Amino acid sequence: MAISGRLDIAATGYPYWWDATPLVDPGGTVLPGEVDVVVIGAGWTGLSAALTLARAGRDVLVLEANAPGSGGSTRNAGAFGNNLRASLSRLIERYGESTALDLAQTAQHAFAFSKNLIESEQIDCDLQDLGRLTCAYHPVHYESMAREAELVQRVLGVDCRMLTAAELRGELGTDQYHGAELKESSYVMHPGKYLLGLLERCRSAGVTILGDTPVTQLHRGEKEVVTSRGKVRAKEILVATNAYTGDFLPELKRKLIPTGANIIVTEALEESLMRAVLPRERMAIDTRRIYRAFRPTPDGKRLLFAGRSSDPRRGPQHNGEILRKQMVDLFPMLANTELSHSWGGYVGFTFDYLPHLGELDGVHYAMGLNAAGASMAPYLGNQIALRMLGQRDDDGLLERFEFKSWPFYSGEPWFLPYVLALYRLLDKLGR
Ligand SMILES: Cc1cc2nc3c(=O)[nH]c(=O)nc-3n(C[C@H](O)[C@H](O)[C@H](O)COP(=O)(O)OP(=O)(O)OC[C@H]3O[C@@H](n4cnc5c(N)ncnc54)[C@H](O)[C@@H]3O)c2cc1C
Repeated sequence: MAISGRLDIAATGYPYWWDATPLVDPGGTVLPGEVDVVVIGAGWTGLSAALTLARAGRDVLVLEANAPGSGGSTRNAGAFGNNLRASLSRLIERYGESTALDLAQTAQHAFAFSKNLIESEQIDCDLQDLGRLTCAYHPVHYESMAREAELVQRVLGVDCRMLTAAELRGELGTDQYHGAELKESSYVMHPGKYLLGLLERCRSAGVTILGDTPVTQLHRGEKEVVTSRGKVRAKEILVATNAYTGDFLPELKRKLIPTGANIIVTEALEESLMRAVLPRERMAIDTRRIYRAFRPTPDGKRLLFAGRSSDPRRGPQHNGEILRKQMVDLFPMLANTELSHSWGGYVGFTFDYLPHLGELDGVHYAMGLNAAGASMAPYLGNQIALRMLGQRDDDGLLERFEFKSWPFYSGEPWFLPYVLALYRLLDKLGR
């Protein structure tokens, strides 16, 4: 299946998560003539919004270019965090202490909302509290992380502490890092099961979901949505396409920087080998700009290893090999380990690293998850839905920030290879 315009999802590999939860063809091919709300994009954001709207009595149609969930929402690593992409000190630097704290609280609300959604809807998605290590790639990173850890502990009351390089050896089977920050409580989950749970709740609430139905044009004045299957009129339209936002809405496309990220999963490992790699079975990420992140799969038998290798369109073979080398460099005991899966996807970065929601010329939008959508995306979907219903329950904080782009930027990030080359250099220099 081809995605609207630019991004070809099918060529980017088969995620491990799809073994347990294969993508579902929602069935149905007939577009209704008119509905209350059309939601474009069936990921976590769009489905969460659809659920809230349908339960408030709206007639909701979700249109998805491929299969529901085939975008970022089932292509990620499953880290379920409670913070924004930018650190608290960076937020304070940029917006001042009061706004920075409000933003950090919003991320905590998002986490609480999404965790409650999983629990109250009884979505069985292997939610596990593994704790999280952020590993210092350079001694300078350790120092700045220690200052940040002290700040978030003092100001937000988050339970985290620093581990020296020697202490870290009890946590990770590598000696490449100069210590780490450990958050004792931090969650991971199974993204495919999470998506499927939302999809099923939407269906039970009466939402119509059409897959393989790319939206090609919006006639905003007439509130008409043009798709590959024909046209549908809607009282309201919500765009929830994040990194995959295409040419049907160029004003939004140019506000996002779709950035490739890739993941590999190993074959099932001997218990002793798994224990040698991740003795405490934690989730971990490092402080390189071209980061590496890893976690055990929910059954504890395989290592999932994520990073930015190169454009996902170069294919799972090419990108998997790059990541495999990085994995073996970090964990030499995996030199003879085979991979079972390799895939890629696009992360939707924004120019200010904040998520955004609002209205643009009569069209609602919620997007810009900056690789931290597991808890934020369902929250953002719910918040935009409440806004559409005139029932919002936050103070509109995220809407206060202009959703910026760059002059002459059209949404095709031609500059990324140069940025990544610079990042590689800075990583080498430890800057
Ligand atoms: C490799 C990778 C690892 C990641 N790891 C993590 C992680 O560990 N933790 C975390 O919190 N986040 C992670 N993320 C980010 C996370 O996946 C996203 O933030 C999240 O999935 C965004 O959800 P969404 O519903 O907004 O967008 P998506 O799930 O991308 O959904 C958008 C949908 O819109 C559809 N669409 C696009 N154009 C059209 C059109 N014209 N017509 C109809 N439909 C259209 C797409 O097909 C897609 O299904 C990762 C992302 C990647 C790629």
